[in-house]
Amino acid sequence: MVNIAIDGPAGAGKSTIAKKLAKDLGYIYVDTGAMYRAMAYYFLKNGIAAEDEAAITKACPDVDVTIRYENGEQQVILNGENVNGVIRNEEVGNMASATSIYPVVRTKLVELQRQLAAKENVIMDGRDIGTVVLPDANVKIYLTASARVRAQRRFDELTAKGQECNLEEIEKDIIDRDYRDMHRETSPLKQAEDAVLLDSSELDINGVVAAMKKIIEEA
Ligand code: C5P
Repeated sequence: MVNIAIDGPAGAGKSTIAKKLAKDLGYIYVDTGAMYRAMAYYFLKNGIAAEDEAAITKACPDVDVTIRYENGEQQVILNGENVNGVIRNEEVGNMASATSIYPVVRTKLVELQRQLAAKENVIMDGRDIGTVVLPDANVKIYLTASARVRAQRRFDELTAKGQECNLEEIEKDIIDRDYRDMHRETSPLKQAEDAVLLDSSELDINGVVAAMKKIIEEA
C-alpha cells in the first residue's frame, strides 16, 4: 500500500489539498482531525469538561468512532450517528485540540488510522501522521503557512458559510491551538525528520497541489 502523510498546523490547507490530491491520484483521503473532532463532540454533548481527564478516560470505552465513504467523501460515524455536519465549527475544534492531549484518546484513534492505511492507498492528514501514526509512510509532507494567512483563510471559509466571525479572534485561536498542539506531551505537532517542508503562505490551492505532486513524483 502507498501511504502519504501530510501534517501541519490548523488552517494550513491540509484537508483541501489532500482531498484534491487523493481524487487526482485515486487514493482514499483520511481526515484524522475529524476523528478527534467526533470524540470532542461526544465529550461536549455529554457535559464532560476538557480538563477532567478521569471523566474522559471513563467515557472513552463508550465512544465508537468509525469511518465510511459516501461518493468518495469521508463520513465520521459516532456511535452509529453520522456527525460530519456538526463537527466543523470552532467550538468542536477547540475541544478537539484540548482533548487530543490525552493518550487514552489518541491510542484509540491511532489504531483506527493504522487499520485504514494498512488496507488502502491513503493520503492521511493530521498532526502526528509522519511522526507517530505512519512512520514508514512513502511520502511525508509538512504543510504550513503564517498564522495571519491561516486566520484569513478560515475567516473567508466561515464567512462564505454565513457564520459570523472575527479575524482577530480566529488568529488568536489559531495561535493558541498551534501552541497546544506543538507543546503537548503525547505526539506533539512537529515536522518529521524525513518530511518535506512546504509553506503555502504565498501559494493558491493549485500552486500547493502542483508543489505536492512534484514532491510525490520525486519520492
Ligand atoms: O485538523 P483539525 O483542525 O480538524 O483537528 C482538530 C484538532 O484535533 C487539532 O487541533 C489537534 O489538536 C487534533 N488532532 C491531533 N492529531 C491529529 C489530527 C488532529 O491531535 N492527527
